[in-house]
This record gives sequence, C-alpha cells and structure tokens, in this order.
Amino acid sequence: MAFRTGQIIMRRRTFCAAGLAALAAASLPLRRVSAAGAEISAVGLDGRQLTLTPADVADLRAGLRGELLTAGDARYDDARRLWNAAFDRKPALIARCAGAADVMRAVSFASAHGLLTSVRGGGHSLSGQSVCDGGLEIDLSPMHSVHIDPAAKLARVAPGSLIGQFDLEAQAFGLATTAGTAADTGIAGLTLGGGLGRIAPKFGLTIDNFTGAEVVTADGRLLRASASENPDLFWALRGGGGNFGIVTLFEYQLHPVGPMLFGGNLTFPLTGARQLMRGFAEFTATAPEELCATPYFDADAQGTPRLGIEVCYCGPPADGERAVAPLRKLGKPLKDELAAAPYVKLQGATGPVKPNPYGGYFKGGLVRALTPALIDAVIDYLEAAPPPGLWEISFQPVGGAANRVAPQATAFWNRHAAFDMLVASMWKVPGDGAQRSTDWVRAGWAKVEPFTEGYYVNLAEAQQDAHAHRIQAAYGDNYPRLAGLKKRYDPSNFFRLNANIKPA
Ligand SMILES: Cc1cc2nc3c(=O)[nH]c(=O)nc-3n(C[C@H](O)[C@H](O)[C@H](O)COP(=O)(O)OP(=O)(O)OC[C@H]3O[C@@H](n4cnc5c(N)ncnc54)[C@H](O)[C@@H]3O)c2cc1C
Repeated sequence: MAFRTGQIIMRRRTFCAAGLAALAAASLPLRRVSAAGAEISAVGLDGRQLTLTPADVADLRAGLRGELLTAGDARYDDARRLWNAAFDRKPALIARCAGAADVMRAVSFASAHGLLTSVRGGGHSLSGQSVCDGGLEIDLSPMHSVHIDPAAKLARVAPGSLIGQFDLEAQAFGLATTAGTAADTGIAGLTLGGGLGRIAPKFGLTIDNFTGAEVVTADGRLLRASASENPDLFWALRGGGGNFGIVTLFEYQLHPVGPMLFGGNLTFPLTGARQLMRGFAEFTATAPEELCATPYFDADAQGTPRLGIEVCYCGPPADGERAVAPLRKLGKPLKDELAAAPYVKLQGATGPVKPNPYGGYFKGGLVRALTPALIDAVIDYLEAAPPPGLWEISFQPVGGAANRVAPQATAFWNRHAAFDMLVASMWKVPGDGAQRSTDWVRAGWAKVEPFTEGYYVNLAEAQQDAHAHRIQAAYGDNYPRLAGLKKRYDPSNFFRLNANIKPA
C-alpha cells in the first residue's frame, strides 16, 4: 500500500518491592507472593486463567539467551508497544529472543503450559495481534541481522529485521527485492502474508522472491523449508501468515535495482479527480512493469481532500521520466515532486525509526480494475461524508509479475488482482478520535467492498474483526490444503493470533 498515513507519521528474576508496585499499577493480577517471587496470573490458549509459579518463570528465564520481561521491568513497555497505538496490550511474559534456540525454548514453554502466545516481528500488525493480553509475547525484534551475498544475489535475513534495514544492506550492492513501502515495517509479517511494494509489478510479491526459511514449529522443532526441504510447509509459508510456525530465518532472491530510480509524488485537486482517475486507469493498463504508480486520496495540511499519485520506476531514471510523462498530463498538478532519487530514499529507509503516536482502523480488499463505478463510489463517499483528520483511500499495485504466478503455486490465492484498495483512518492516542475514524472507515468500506474480489491478509481487517469468511476468501481454493497443513504442523492451533486458518 502507499499507506500515506504511515508515511506521514514516519515520513526478573524475583520481584523486588518496586517491581511489585509497578505490577500492581499495570493491573496484572498477582495471586500470591512468596520469598521466591510472585505467581503470575496468565491467560491460556483457550482463554482460561492459569497460574505461572515463580519456579516456572525462573526456569524459562534461565533457559533463554535473551531477556524475559514481566510488568515492572524497565523495557517491558517498549517491548509491547505496537505501531498501531490503538492497542495497549499487556502480556504476562515477553521473551526477547536472541536466536532460534530461544524461540524453540519459548514455544516449548508456552506449549507445555497451554499459554496464549503471540509472535512479534516488526510490530506493524494492523490488527495488533502480535502482542497479547495475559499471554506470552515471543519478541523477535532483537534478532535483526541482514546478510547479503552479492555474487549469488541472495539475502539471509533474521526475523526482527525491518524493511529499511534490508533495503539499506541490499542497496549497498545495487540489489533489492520486493518489500513494503514503510521502512519500519517488519520483514517477517510482511513476507508471510505476501508482500506488496514499489517493485512488485516488476519482481512479484515478496513471497515470489522468498527462497527458503528456518521455522520453529508448534512442537518446538526447528525445520528447514524450501522448494526441496519440507516443500509443503514452504508452500504454506508463502502467504499463509503466522499460522505454521515461527520463521527464524528468511532467505530471498535479489535483483539489480538502482541505486538511482525515478519517482516521487504528483498531487492534484479533488476537482477533476473522476476524469483523472479514468485516465489513470487507462494509462496503467499498458504501463511498463518497471512503473509502480499508486493513486491515493488523502488530505493536505489544511484538511482539504486531494488526489495523489505516488510513483516508483525501477529502471534507468531517464526511462522513468519518459514513462511517467502521460501521468503529468492527466491534469494540472498542485505539486509535481517527481525526480530521479535513490531507491532507499523512495523507500524512506534513511530516516530514524520513531514510535507512531496514532491509532488506526483499516479495511482492505483486492480489486481487478479501477472501474468508473469504483472511482465514482470513492469520490461520492468523500464528497458525502467529510473525512476525519488523518485518513487515506489508496490503491497499491499488485499486477505485473505477481499476476503471472499461478494461484495454486503459493498459498496467496488472489493472483488476479490489479490493486489492493485500503480505506484507513488514524487518530491521536490518547485522544477521542477512535469512534469517528472507525465509523468513517466502516461506512466508506460498505460503499466500496462490493467492488473487491478477495482479500490480502496483511492489509484486510480479516485479523482485526476475525471475520472467517474474509480469511477464507483470502485463500480461495487453497484453503482446504492450508487447513490440512495446519493440522499437520499445528494441530492444537497454538499459532492462533493471526489471520487464523483452523486445523482441518
Ligand atoms: C505503516 C505500514 C505500512 C505498510 N505497508 C505495507 C506494504 O507496503 N506492503 C504490504 O504488503 N504490507 C504493508 N503493511 C502491512 C504489513 O505487511 C503487515 O502489517 C505485517 O504483518 C507487518 O509485519 P511485522 O513483522 O511488522 O508485524 P508484527 O506485528 O510483528 O507481526 C504481524 C503478524 O505476523 C506474524 N509474524 C510476525 N513475525 C513472524 C515470524 N517470524 N514467524 C511467524 N509469524 C510471524 C504473527 O502472526 C504476527 O501477529 C504495512 C503496515 C503498516 C503499519
């Protein structure tokens, strides 16, 4: 997704007295305190309360190379913070894993205790499911290394790495693969759901460039998955989300890209946007695959709705300037910021990563074409329902190489899609904007959802509202095979805080 809203924001051991006070403040229920520490009341996989003894906790802590955090620890709040500030969840335990062995240990511990478990990579889950209330958060963010093999054009990436880190390392060798558009998104969640990005029309989805993985399964084993090792598991990982295990290593095929490309933004007034979008739809139908052009509606600094087109051309800059010339003539731009630019700059990879102070509500779905009826539905809605402060309706290209992969070749079924449509609104946290934003997104979505044909799990509310029919529609005819593999690799549905595929 262009996800302008995202870009705007970017653009113990035993408890001591202080720790106990902090625990009480965090309203985490304590059962009983002994000389050895406090029992911790936690939440089980089935939602029931369970008790972890000080010995349980000490045992897990002793087995980890990384830290085990509980409420009251200095780093507890940072480790549970999500990009989407709408969620303020308080896990009973946070295992900050230092390597695959820690992940195996944490999974075995949670499994033995029947503890509700969430898995956090970059923390950008729109639905906030990578952090859970009362359970165990397996935090992979300390595992952030990127190793590039320039000769083989391969990358080995640890699961806590962010897209910007990946881009910067690969671009040092003039290489890249499809990744998302916001540099602070985690490579892990993005890859496992599919992965759209500025070079997707040319090189396919991130999963189309994902060549192998190491995975900790629900029984605590570490498996290899690739085309030749556990190929069924590898098939499921390419789009099946976090359902099949915890990936502790991602391997990717890289491509020569840049470093200088052509891109940036064109912005137009809302007046005339109907005609302009019709022209845009005609233009993109025959545009080269090097060109990724993302139309989006959002508001300028004064709150006036406008139409933008974000461009990235992943070939020589001079070719890009020629290729986008027709876009510049679609209307009279308010701003033309198209220029030759380094790929890492277009990706926003060079700035600092800052916490996002906004909560957000999102609805997304895939469309086959930008038809006049869909364009009218969007603009009619913007004219009829004044949007809240921070909002966006965008159309992120899928198309090109991603469309040429057969729907059965990976778990990602909806290969016909030309764009992923997103309706988003965000509000300041703390603040009182949540209801208005959520209502606005829901009402708009009711107008445009009829134009969708399928969903992309990473950008649908499929996780947020746990609407099983949307998850089924995301996987189409691949769902029964996925449910069978879920039964083989995770029969107890241990990995359930995701766009959940139920074991067959
Ligand atoms: C600002 C912003 C911009 C975005 N832009 C794009 C975009 O351009 N293209 C696009 O395709 N998507 C985009 N997304 C959506 C993004 O792909 C998903 O939100 C994705 O889940 C984020 O991954 P993460 O690791 O940061 O998330 P997390 O919140 O850490 O994880 C999300 C889920 O992924 C699973 N998971 C995470 N790590 C692992 C692991 N190692 N093993 C197994 N399961 C795991 C878990 O189920 C977890 O609940 C964007 C999101 C945001 C907030």
